[in-house]
Amino acid sequence: MEKILCYSCNKSKNKLDVKKSSLLPINLFICETCSFSKFEPRWVIILAGRSKGPDHVKEFIVKRRYVGNEISASELLV
Ligand SMILES: [Zn+2]
Repeated sequence: MEKILCYSCNKSKNKLDVKKSSLLPINLFICETCSFSKFEPRWVIILAGRSKGPDHVKEFIVKRRYVGNEISASELLV
């Protein structure tokens, strides 16, 4: 069986929860660690920032609630 990777940290975990994104109307597979930290996948934050405006995702960026390289302001511009 193919292992599903956590949408947020991209790691293969034994247990992933299906969690509704708090930024976009989609479901995410999130591991317990990311779920506990209230992380959203980096690309979800960027997409939400582009469609709803930087203010919408500001908290996630300021509190760094994602895994990966820092999201720059230019990435939020279309
Ligand atoms: Zn994770």
